[in-house]
Amino acid sequence: MITIALSKGRIFTETMPMLNKLGIFCEENPETSRKLVFETNKKNLQLIIVRASDVPTYVEWGGADIGIAGKDVMDEFQGKGLFQPLDLGIGKCQLMVAGRKEFDYEAFIKQKIRLRVATKYPQAARKFFSEKGVHIDVIKLYGSMELAPIVGMSDVIVDLVSSGKTLEANNLIAYEKISDVSSRLIINQAALKIKRKQLKPLIENFSEVVL
Ligand code: ATP
Ligand code: MG
Repeated sequence: MITIALSKGRIFTETMPMLNKLGIFCEENPETSRKLVFETNKKNLQLIIVRASDVPTYVEWGGADIGIAGKDVMDEFQGKGLFQPLDLGIGKCQLMVAGRKEFDYEAFIKQKIRLRVATKYPQAARKFFSEKGVHIDVIKLYGSMELAPIVGMSDVIVDLVSSGKTLEANNLIAYEKISDVSSRLIINQAALKIKRKQLKPLIENFSEVVL
Protein backbone atom coordinates (compact mmCIF):
# COMPACT_ATOMS: atom_id res chain seq x y z
CA MET A 1 0.00 0.00 0.00
CA ILE A 2 1.18 3.51 -0.86
CA THR A 3 -0.14 6.37 1.29
CA ILE A 4 -0.13 9.99 0.15
CA ALA A 5 -0.54 12.76 2.77
CA LEU A 6 -2.31 15.93 1.69
CA SER A 7 -3.87 18.90 3.45
CA LYS A 8 -7.27 20.39 2.75
CA GLY A 9 -7.56 23.84 1.21
CA ARG A 10 -5.20 25.23 -1.41
CA ILE A 11 -2.87 22.25 -1.62
CA PHE A 12 -5.77 19.85 -2.02
CA THR A 13 -7.55 21.90 -4.71
CA GLU A 14 -4.40 22.19 -6.77
CA THR A 15 -3.18 18.62 -6.19
CA MET A 16 -6.41 16.82 -7.09
CA PRO A 17 -6.35 17.78 -10.80
CA MET A 18 -2.75 16.56 -10.86
CA LEU A 19 -3.70 13.21 -9.33
CA ASN A 20 -6.60 12.96 -11.81
CA LYS A 21 -4.14 13.45 -14.68
CA LEU A 22 -2.20 10.50 -13.27
CA GLY A 23 -5.41 8.48 -13.41
CA ILE A 24 -5.92 8.62 -9.64
CA PHE A 25 -9.46 9.37 -8.51
CA CYS A 26 -11.06 9.47 -5.07
CA GLU A 27 -14.37 7.72 -4.45
CA GLU A 28 -15.48 10.41 -2.01
CA ASN A 29 -14.69 14.15 -1.86
CA PRO A 30 -12.15 14.60 0.96
CA GLU A 31 -12.80 18.37 0.99
CA THR A 32 -16.34 17.88 2.27
CA SER A 33 -16.00 14.57 4.13
CA ARG A 34 -15.08 14.18 7.77
CA LYS A 35 -13.13 11.03 7.02
CA LEU A 36 -9.34 11.17 7.18
CA VAL A 37 -8.46 8.14 5.04
CA PHE A 38 -9.66 7.81 1.45
CA GLU A 39 -9.45 4.92 -0.93
CA THR A 40 -8.73 5.64 -4.56
CA ASN A 41 -9.56 3.79 -7.77
CA LYS A 42 -6.04 2.32 -7.51
CA LYS A 43 -6.23 -0.65 -5.16
CA ASN A 44 -2.82 -0.08 -3.56
CA LEU A 45 -3.05 3.72 -3.18
CA GLN A 46 -4.76 5.70 -0.44
CA LEU A 47 -4.90 9.38 0.55
CA ILE A 48 -4.81 10.74 4.07
CA ILE A 49 -5.82 14.27 5.05
CA VAL A 50 -3.71 16.02 7.71
CA ARG A 51 -2.89 19.57 8.79
CA ALA A 52 -0.62 21.32 6.28
CA SER A 53 2.18 21.66 8.84
CA ASP A 54 1.84 17.98 9.85
CA VAL A 55 2.46 16.59 6.34
CA PRO A 56 6.28 16.27 6.70
CA THR A 57 5.88 14.69 10.15
CA TYR A 58 3.56 11.98 8.77
CA VAL A 59 6.03 11.26 5.99
CA GLU A 60 9.05 11.29 8.34
CA TRP A 61 7.48 8.76 10.70
CA GLY A 62 6.12 6.54 7.95
CA GLY A 63 2.43 7.41 8.46
CA ALA A 64 2.58 8.25 4.78
CA ASP A 65 5.09 7.34 2.06
CA ILE A 66 4.58 10.51 0.07
CA GLY A 67 3.38 13.98 0.98
CA ILE A 68 2.71 17.30 -0.64
CA ALA A 69 3.79 20.29 1.42
CA GLY A 70 4.61 23.95 0.85
CA LYS A 71 8.23 25.14 0.88
CA ASP A 72 7.15 27.36 3.79
CA VAL A 73 6.27 24.26 5.82
CA MET A 74 9.44 22.41 4.77
CA ASP A 75 11.68 25.33 5.79
CA GLU A 76 10.22 25.23 9.32
CA PHE A 77 10.38 21.43 9.56
CA GLN A 78 13.10 20.19 11.90
CA GLY A 79 12.90 16.49 11.09
CA LYS A 80 15.03 14.28 8.86
CA GLY A 81 14.85 11.40 6.42
CA LEU A 82 12.86 13.13 3.72
CA PHE A 83 13.68 13.14 0.04
CA GLN A 84 12.39 16.17 -1.89
CA PRO A 85 12.58 15.20 -5.54
CA LEU A 86 10.15 17.62 -7.12
CA ASP A 87 8.81 21.17 -7.10
CA LEU A 88 5.21 20.69 -8.20
CA GLY A 89 4.76 24.32 -9.24
CA ILE A 90 1.45 24.61 -7.39
CA GLY A 91 0.47 26.54 -4.25
CA LYS A 92 2.56 29.47 -5.43
CA CYS A 93 2.87 32.48 -3.15
CA GLN A 94 5.58 34.53 -1.47
CA LEU A 95 6.85 34.73 2.08
CA MET A 96 6.91 38.44 2.89
CA VAL A 97 7.67 40.94 5.61
CA ALA A 98 4.61 43.16 5.99
CA GLY A 99 3.13 45.66 8.39
CA ARG A 100 1.31 48.96 8.81
CA LYS A 101 1.64 51.63 6.14
CA GLU A 102 2.72 54.12 8.80
CA PHE A 103 5.58 51.98 10.10
CA ASP A 104 9.02 53.04 8.82
CA TYR A 105 10.44 49.58 8.07
CA GLU A 106 13.32 51.00 5.99
CA ALA A 107 14.55 53.10 8.90
CA PHE A 108 14.47 50.15 11.31
CA ILE A 109 16.49 48.02 8.87
CA LYS A 110 18.98 50.76 8.01
CA GLN A 111 19.65 51.59 11.64
CA LYS A 112 19.46 47.91 12.65
CA ILE A 113 16.88 48.61 15.34
CA ARG A 114 15.52 45.55 17.13
CA LEU A 115 12.24 44.37 15.52
CA ARG A 116 9.24 42.54 16.93
CA VAL A 117 8.12 39.96 14.41
CA ALA A 118 4.83 38.05 14.68
CA THR A 119 4.82 34.90 12.57
CA LYS A 120 3.95 31.28 12.03
CA TYR A 121 7.44 30.96 10.48
CA PRO A 122 10.06 31.58 13.22
CA GLN A 123 12.87 29.68 11.44
CA ALA A 124 12.50 31.57 8.18
CA ALA A 125 12.11 34.90 10.00
CA ARG A 126 15.21 34.35 12.18
CA LYS A 127 17.34 33.33 9.21
CA PHE A 128 16.22 36.28 7.07
CA PHE A 129 16.80 38.98 9.67
CA SER A 130 20.02 37.51 11.02
CA GLU A 131 21.49 37.65 7.50
CA LYS A 132 20.64 41.37 7.53
CA GLY A 133 22.24 41.78 10.94
CA VAL A 134 18.93 42.85 12.47
CA HIS A 135 18.02 41.42 15.88
CA ILE A 136 14.42 40.30 16.31
CA ASP A 137 12.01 39.11 18.96
CA VAL A 138 9.76 36.42 17.51
CA ILE A 139 6.13 36.23 18.59
CA LYS A 140 4.97 32.79 17.46
CA LEU A 141 1.39 32.70 16.11
CA TYR A 142 -0.64 29.98 14.42
CA GLY A 143 -2.84 32.15 12.21
CA SER A 144 -4.31 35.61 11.54
CA MET A 145 -0.86 37.20 11.70
CA GLU A 146 -2.31 40.40 10.18
CA LEU A 147 -3.83 41.29 13.51
CA ALA A 148 -0.54 41.58 15.40
CA PRO A 149 0.70 44.93 14.01
CA ILE A 150 -2.84 46.37 14.05
CA VAL A 151 -3.17 45.87 17.80
CA GLY A 152 0.42 46.99 18.36
CA MET A 153 1.67 43.58 19.42
CA SER A 154 4.41 43.48 16.79
CA ASP A 155 6.22 45.87 14.44
CA VAL A 156 5.92 43.55 11.46
CA ILE A 157 4.66 40.14 10.40
CA VAL A 158 6.25 37.43 8.29
CA ASP A 159 3.50 35.72 6.33
CA LEU A 160 2.50 34.22 2.99
CA VAL A 161 1.08 36.62 0.45
CA SER A 162 -0.42 35.80 -2.92
CA SER A 163 -2.93 38.40 -4.10
CA GLY A 164 -2.24 40.85 -1.27
CA LYS A 165 -5.98 41.22 -0.64
CA THR A 166 -5.82 40.19 3.02
CA LEU A 167 -3.05 42.72 3.67
CA GLU A 168 -5.02 45.40 1.85
CA ALA A 169 -8.23 44.64 3.75
CA ASN A 170 -6.30 45.20 6.98
CA ASN A 171 -4.49 48.36 5.83
CA LEU A 172 -1.16 46.59 5.73
CA ILE A 173 1.53 46.60 3.05
CA ALA A 174 4.32 44.22 2.08
CA TYR A 175 7.79 45.68 2.69
CA GLU A 176 10.08 42.98 1.40
CA LYS A 177 10.05 39.47 -0.08
CA ILE A 178 11.80 36.70 1.84
CA SER A 179 11.28 33.83 -0.60
CA ASP A 180 9.12 32.29 -3.31
CA VAL A 181 6.93 29.43 -2.10
CA SER A 182 5.47 26.49 -3.99
CA SER A 183 4.41 22.96 -3.07
CA ARG A 184 6.92 20.12 -3.02
CA LEU A 185 6.62 16.39 -3.35
CA ILE A 186 8.26 14.76 -0.33
CA ILE A 187 9.11 11.08 0.11
CA ASN A 188 10.10 8.95 3.07
CA GLN A 189 13.65 7.80 2.28
CA ALA A 190 13.24 4.36 3.82
CA ALA A 191 9.98 3.81 1.91
CA LEU A 192 11.74 4.83 -1.29
CA LYS A 193 14.11 1.89 -0.81
CA ILE A 194 11.56 -0.65 0.39
CA LYS A 195 8.74 0.30 -1.98
CA ARG A 196 10.91 1.46 -4.87
CA LYS A 197 9.01 -0.61 -7.45
CA GLN A 198 5.77 1.26 -6.73
CA LEU A 199 7.17 4.67 -5.77
CA LYS A 200 9.63 5.27 -8.60
CA PRO A 201 7.04 5.18 -11.41
CA LEU A 202 4.68 7.32 -9.33
CA ILE A 203 7.37 10.00 -8.84
CA GLU A 204 8.17 9.86 -12.56
CA ASN A 205 4.49 10.30 -13.41
CA PHE A 206 4.32 13.33 -11.11
CA SER A 207 7.33 14.89 -12.82
CA GLU A 208 5.60 14.47 -16.18
CA VAL A 209 2.48 16.40 -15.16
CA VAL A 210 4.37 19.27 -13.48
CA LEU A 211 3.45 22.44 -15.34
P1 ATP B 1 -2.44 24.69 9.08
O1 ATP B 1 -3.82 24.13 9.16
O2 ATP B 1 -1.38 23.62 9.21
O3 ATP B 1 -2.20 25.86 9.98
P2 ATP B 1 -2.97 26.48 6.90
O4 ATP B 1 -4.27 26.84 7.55
O5 ATP B 1 -1.95 27.54 6.74
O6 ATP B 1 -2.30 25.19 7.58
P3 ATP B 1 -3.50 26.66 4.13
O7 ATP B 1 -3.80 28.09 4.36
O8 ATP B 1 -4.40 25.81 3.30
O9 ATP B 1 -3.33 25.88 5.49
O10 ATP B 1 -2.04 26.61 3.54
C1 ATP B 1 -1.46 25.40 3.19
C2 ATP B 1 -0.29 25.67 2.27
O11 ATP B 1 -0.75 26.30 1.08
C3 ATP B 1 0.77 26.60 2.85
O12 ATP B 1 1.69 25.91 3.62
C4 ATP B 1 1.37 27.20 1.59
O13 ATP B 1 2.39 26.37 1.08
C5 ATP B 1 0.19 27.24 0.65
N1 ATP B 1 -0.43 28.59 0.72
C6 ATP B 1 -0.81 29.25 1.80
N2 ATP B 1 -1.28 30.46 1.53
C7 ATP B 1 -1.20 30.56 0.20
C8 ATP B 1 -1.56 31.57 -0.71
N3 ATP B 1 -2.05 32.74 -0.32
N4 ATP B 1 -1.40 31.31 -2.02
C9 ATP B 1 -0.91 30.14 -2.43
N5 ATP B 1 -0.54 29.14 -1.60
C10 ATP B 1 -0.68 29.35 -0.32
MG1 MG C 1 -3.88 29.37 6.29
